[in-house]
Formats: sequence, structure tokens, C-alpha cells
Amino acid sequence: MMFTFDLYTNTDTDYHKSTVQEFLRMIEKNGYLYETTEGQDYCEECGKFLSDRELEGKCPDCGKVTRGDQCEFCMATFDADKMTDKVCRTCKKATVQRTNKHLMFRLSAFQKGIEEFAEKHGKEWRWNAVNETRKYLDQGLPDRAVTRDLDWGVEVPLPGYETKRVYVWFEAVLGYLTTCKKVCEERGIDFKEFMKKDSGLSAYYVHGKDNIPFHTVIFPALQMAIDPEMQLPTHIVSSEYVNMNDEKMSKSKGNLISVSDLADNYPIDAVRFYTMLYNPEKRDVNFSIADMITTFNKFLCGGFGNFVNRNLSFLVKKFDGVVPAGKVEEAVKAHVEGLYASMGELMEKGELRAATEAMVDFIQYANKYYDEAKPWVAAKEDLARFGDITATCLYMIANMANLFSPVIPVGTEALRKMLSLPKAKWESVTLPETFTLGDIAILYTKIDEK
Ligand SMILES: [Zn+2]
Ligand SMILES: [Zn+2]
Repeated sequence: MMFTFDLYTNTDTDYHKSTVQEFLRMIEKNGYLYETTEGQDYCEECGKFLSDRELEGKCPDCGKVTRGDQCEFCMATFDADKMTDKVCRTCKKATVQRTNKHLMFRLSAFQKGIEEFAEKHGKEWRWNAVNETRKYLDQGLPDRAVTRDLDWGVEVPLPGYETKRVYVWFEAVLGYLTTCKKVCEERGIDFKEFMKKDSGLSAYYVHGKDNIPFHTVIFPALQMAIDPEMQLPTHIVSSEYVNMNDEKMSKSKGNLISVSDLADNYPIDAVRFYTMLYNPEKRDVNFSIADMITTFNKFLCGGFGNFVNRNLSFLVKKFDGVVPAGKVEEAVKAHVEGLYASMGELMEKGELRAATEAMVDFIQYANKYYDEAKPWVAAKEDLARFGDITATCLYMIANMANLFSPVIPVGTEALRKMLSLPKAKWESVTLPETFTLGDIAILYTKIDEK
């Protein structure tokens, strides 16, 4: 299985909006939407229904004038209905009660469907997704409002709802389908066929733990409501959090570092390698720049880069870059073949941390082989033996360029050029009997830890 970025988009596009409307109509046609009416505060001055946040009134607990969702004086949380002397926060005019209508999604109808889905695919999920989903199911799935009174967002394509918009919870997760549909259209693929259940489609959903219920409950329920034959998520890759120097990252604390900040200031391979090796799969992890630099210096410069450089620069210095003929050791071949299977399986399961640990092990394995084989001695005493050692080491390097490419694409691409290797593939590659190296360069330069 190969991941490629086919479409990088967001939910602000016209395509997304019109396709969400199309899905909403299908859900309506399939009988999973219904209308509710209830009394709600209305501001005649502003001409709109007010949400709790847009209200002001007397706190039912302390009597002071506060916002409609939580008292800013006594911190009590309450239903806005319990407040007295309610006014519109914007214009301060007293509100009136008016009947308002909304569209509701029959999420409750999917309680059993989601239970079966979690049962079937839960084995492929991370523990946090299994637990979080269980919690939701145990509480019983409630119906949810699809519409709200706003003047921005996706318009509701049904008569009588002209002044309302689709709730973000409903349309944002549908972005997965609108995006997939767009790619299908561009490539002349039938979307319905492509998404068909049990056709061997694997669907990975990668997100933070706070978003789990949207991916394991709400999104699959919407899918079932659109088309019961649609393939639901097969892999839920839900991450724990990354903290910064033992503190939760936040804009207000000023300790937020974005991936693009990191990419602008450090080699992207260093960032990728570090975040994969310490991927927050089972618990929150701590991020520190100092730690990232140490890890990069130790494993990528010292371990991997050094192994490559020791081999290649020796060939350039002593043999003008001409790689001698030799035989790759069978044990090493078997080891490398095994890595394609084991690392591939780990990555497909979303166990990136273990896959990167396997990468570290392979780097150590290769360096150990080199140290024990002592090619610098063989070069003087036994040229045939030197040829075999070199063939074995270059075989490992060529396959590192494949095996490591998902984690460190820049370094492996540079390596590919030096060895004139074909495009990266998830299968073992052998080098020609003898060839001349391309221009070689140091793969990674150590970052000053100070
Ligand atoms: Zn008002
Ligand atoms: Zn109060």
C-alpha cells in the first residue's frame, strides 16, 4: 500500500459546499432528518434568533447580569431558559420568545450500526479510540441539530431554511467524502463503486484524540445515512497529545510551535524522524527542540549518515568511486527482506513509532556488520573479500533508501542520486554487479546542540 497526496484541500471550497448539500439531500431522502420546533429567544431589533452566548440576563444563582451560557461572577453554568430579564448582547433590547425550527439528524437510529462497526474494526484502532467510542455508545447516541441560525457557512438546500446554515460538525467530517469524490471525478472513477463496502478498500483517518467521536461515531453514522453500502473507516489513527517542555501547547501560553516553524528552521528529516520515533501513540509525549537535535545528531548523522559516508567516501578515496564486484551475504539479504515485511506491516497498522524503532535497529545492525567485517583491512589484504563486504554494505544502503523513505524522504532521495537508484519501491533492490558512484556528499550535518 502506498500513500500519496492526491488532493490537499479544505472545506471552504464551492465544491465541498455543493457536495455537502447533495449529501444532505440524500440523508433527508433516506429519512434520517426531521424537523423540530421549540421556543427560542429572538431579537426583533437584530432580526435573529439568539444562541445562549448571544444572550445576557440575570444569573439564576447570584442574580448578577451575565452571559447566557455561564455566569462570569459565580461561575455557575446553567440553561439560558433559567435566566430572567434576558436581553440581546449586541443591542441590549429585551428578547421575545418565538418558535424556531431546526433540522435534526437521527443519530440515535445508528446506535446498533455503530456498535457493530466498532466491534468489527475496533481491533485495528488505537486503544484511545476504542475507549472513547465505548463511552459514547454507553451513553446512548442522541439526535443532533444539523442547522443553526447563522449567516455564514453551508446553506441548507431545503425550503423554509433559507436563513439557516449547516452545523460545522455535520459538514466538516463530510469533507472526507467530498474530497474523495472530487479525486474520483478528476480521474473518471465511479465514487459509489470506489467507496463500496468489502471491496478491499482501506480507509485511514488520522487525527488527535479530541476528535475521536467525530471519526468513530458521527462520520460513520452519516456515511450509513447517505449510503448503507459505503465502506466505513477501517483504520482509526488517533493520536495522544504532544506537549512542549512538559506543558500543554497553546497559543496563549506562547509555547506553540507549528510544523512549518520547525520545517523552516530544521532539516525536515530531523523533524519527521523525531516525531515518528516519539509518536504519541499510547500516551502524551513531550517535545523539546534540544531533544530533537540530540536525536537527529545521534541516529541520523552519527548512525545512518556515518554508515553511508564511511562506505562511500572510502570507495571514492581508494577506488575512484568504482564499486568492485562482490557477493551480498545471504544472511543480510534475508534480514533486509524481512524488514520490508515487518516495517511495512507496522506502518500499515499506524504503528509508526515501532516502524521507526525498527529503522534505528537496522542502522545499528549495519554499523555492527561494518565494524566486524573491517573492510579497511580487507582492502589491503583480500580484495575479493573487500568486494563482498562492499556489495553487502551497498545493498543495505540501497535498501535503506527504500525502507527509510517514508520517514526521511530528503536524505533517502539524496542517497538515491548518489547510487543512481530507481524510484523508491517497497521491495528489495539489488545494485548492478559493478558501477561508479555519482557525486557523493555528506547526508546530514550535525546541528550544534548549544
Ligand atoms: Zn439585538
Ligand atoms: Zn452568578
